[in-house]
Amino acid sequence: MSLASKDLREEIIEYCLASMRYGLNFNTQGNISVRLPEHDAIVVTPTDLEYDKMTPDDLVVVGYDGTILEGNRGPSSEVTVHQVVYQRRPDVNAVVHSEPVYSNVFGALGRPIEGVLVNMVIYTRGAVPIMPFQQSNNSSFGEAMCDVMGERNAVIWGNHGLLTVGPNLRDAFKTSIAVESAAKVQHAALSIGTPHVLEYDKLGFTSAL
Ligand SMILES: [Zn+2]
Repeated sequence: MSLASKDLREEIIEYCLASMRYGLNFNTQGNISVRLPEHDAIVVTPTDLEYDKMTPDDLVVVGYDGTILEGNRGPSSEVTVHQVVYQRRPDVNAVVHSEPVYSNVFGALGRPIEGVLVNMVIYTRGAVPIMPFQQSNNSSFGEAMCDVMGERNAVIWGNHGLLTVGPNLRDAFKTSIAVESAAKVQHAALSIGTPHVLEYDKLGFTSAL
């Protein structure tokens, strides 16, 4: 009996394939994990494997202490970043890292993605901040990134990509789509004027989603 159910493994692969369809990822970039709270572990996509070749058995179960509990492949090289997020944010049960172009445009500029679209602001709980570039395969990057993200549900990695979190995989994934959509609108709006920006704290929403 696997620590991560077949249904959950298949769901993760569905979202990996969706990330390609939505243009969030190219090649083998990006990674997804889900918390397995009853096992003090997470299930995460493997390193360096194309999503359209990935099968449920390729996913890797890693304990909170870093021990590989299930899987024949190595976990994503950014698994330690995921681990720090789960430690720091008890409200988070899923993490999605992707490398979408328009989010990366703002990351390259070191410029946050502002609340130009209402659905993004609700999902992210505010403007998406920038974690300045560092190598992302270690826990010190994860700690610094969590400091930048705070209680929000998204953070841009400068010169690299986007990370979103949520209480479940569906919500974490929806937040990735919402951030990239807002980045596209912000990019287009800035080319012809100054966009009006919504501030989460002033909208009066009490829950993230
Ligand atoms: Zn990446």
